[in-house]
Amino acid sequence: MDFKKELSAYFKENCLLDEPMSQHTTYRTGGPAQVYVYPNTRQEWSFVLKLARTENIALRIIGFGSNILVGGKGLPGITCSTKHMNQAAVKDNRIIAQAGVALDKVCELSVAAGLGGMEKLSGIPGSVGGAVYMNAGAFGQETFDCLEYVEAIDFEGRPAVLLKKDLPHGYRHVEGIENYIVLGAGFTLEKQDFATLTENRHLIQQKRIEKQPLDLPSAGSVFKRPVGDYASRLIDEAGLRGLSIGGAKVSEKHAGFIVNFNHATPEDIKNLMDEVRRQVKEKSGVELELEQILWGEFEA
Ligand SMILES: Cc1cc2nc3c(=O)[nH]c(=O)nc-3n(C[C@H](O)[C@H](O)[C@H](O)COP(=O)(O)OP(=O)(O)OC[C@H]3O[C@@H](n4cnc5c(N)ncnc54)[C@H](O)[C@@H]3O)c2cc1C
Repeated sequence: MDFKKELSAYFKENCLLDEPMSQHTTYRTGGPAQVYVYPNTRQEWSFVLKLARTENIALRIIGFGSNILVGGKGLPGITCSTKHMNQAAVKDNRIIAQAGVALDKVCELSVAAGLGGMEKLSGIPGSVGGAVYMNAGAFGQETFDCLEYVEAIDFEGRPAVLLKKDLPHGYRHVEGIENYIVLGAGFTLEKQDFATLTENRHLIQQKRIEKQPLDLPSAGSVFKRPVGDYASRLIDEAGLRGLSIGGAKVSEKHAGFIVNFNHATPEDIKNLMDEVRRQVKEKSGVELELEQILWGEFEA
C-alpha cells in the first residue's frame, strides 16, 4: 500500500495530507507537508518509524515550528508533530513534561510551585522537545541548566533515557540529539521564594513585549550570537534595520528578527537572510551563523 494511504488508515483524523506548513510554523508561511501526523503513544511512534525505515521515506519531527523556515516546495515524506504529547506534572522539586508541552507552560508550573531555575525561559514560544533539541535559552538561563534527563526513542524505534551528562551541550547546540526523537524530559529545580519568582517571570514577559516584534509572525532571532557580540547590533550597524524583500522585513523593533509583515513567501525570508548575511560580512567582516533551521526545498 502507498505510505500515505497506510498512514491515513492508521492515524485517521490525526493524519493530514498536503498540509500547508504555514499552519504549523510561527513564520506563518511554508509549502505543504506531504503527510503530517500526530503520533502520541509508543505504538504510534513505532508504527511511523518502522514505515519510514522500511520504505525509506524522509521523516521529520516538529514541535511548535517556532525555529523553522519551510521552503515553498514543501516537505516530502512524513512530518511528525508532537503537539498531542501534552502532559506535564510537578512532583516535589521535579517537573516531568512530554515533548509537546509548551516550554512556557513548564515555566508557569515551576513558578507556581515555587521552583526556580526556568523562570527566565518564560515566553519562549517553543515546545519542550524543541527546547531540548537546541538548548533554548534567554536572559542567562538555558534549558539544560535544570535538565535532569531526556526520555527518547531512536530512529530504529529503540527507547532510551539520556542523562544530561550523556548530551554534551553548549550555546544553542546539543551534540548527538539529532539521532533521537525527544518524547519527554525531566527537570530538577530549586525551591525558591514564590513572590520573587512570580515577579521575575513577569519582568521577563514585559521585556519580551517591549523588545520583540510579537505582533508579527517571526521565528525569533535569525542568527546565533557571534562570540563577544550581538547579531542585532551588527545588523543595525550595517544599516539593515527595516530592509525588506517582498513581504519579509528586518524588524524595526529588533534587528535580530525577520518578520513576515505582508504575506511573505519562504523565499522572501530566505533571500532576506542571505542578503543580511552578505551585507554584515561586507561591512563588519563577521560571518553570521543561522540559528533558525531551513527545511525542504526553496523555489528558485
Ligand atoms: C517570538 C519568538 C521569540 C523567541 N525567543 C527565543 C529565545 O529567547 N531563546 C531561544 O532559544 N529561542 C527563541 N525562539 C526560537 C524558538 O522558540 C526556540 O528555538 C524553541 O526552542 C523551538 O521549539 P519548537 O518546539 O518550536 O521547535 P521547532 O521549531 O518545531 O523545531 C526546531 C528543531 O527541533 C527539532 N525538534 C522539535 N521537537 C523535537 C522532538 N520532540 N524530538 C526531536 N527533535 C525535535 C526539530 O526537528 C527541529 O530541528 C523564539 C521564537 C520566537 C517566534
